[in-house]
Amino acid sequence: MSWYDAHMDHEKLNHFKKRLQDEQKLVDSELRSLGVRDESTPRGWDATLGEIDESATEPDEIADRIEELEGNEAEIREISAHQKNIERALARIEEGTYGICEVSGERIEEDRLDANPSARTCKEHMNGEGKVTE
Ligand SMILES: [Zn+2]
Repeated sequence: MSWYDAHMDHEKLNHFKKRLQDEQKLVDSELRSLGVRDESTPRGWDATLGEIDESATEPDEIADRIEELEGNEAEIREISAHQKNIERALARIEEGTYGICEVSGERIEEDRLDANPSARTCKEHMNGEGKVTE
């Protein structure tokens, strides 16, 4: 009997898969609204710079614009990390390892997956999530 047969029925798994796919669409459109896709890197995104005409723009305005772009970049980085977790979770559904903590190898609590379907660790190890490597 596989881990899934014992712990997660297919209906539940499909439910999380659907939620992850919905999140993936949302994240894609968020990234699209924040930046332009850089086709040279399949998963790369650049903050939209737009045109800054320095001769016609007040220095304050340029500073504001640069600040805004830096904010976008930070947001893009964060959303990209979320996107990677979603892709990873979807891949793990296919592999049959979805819902298993990457630190302890224990089952991730269902309410945690409900709150965040792309969670990679159980509650006990959620602080170490950022440190989990490939
Ligand atoms: Zn754990």
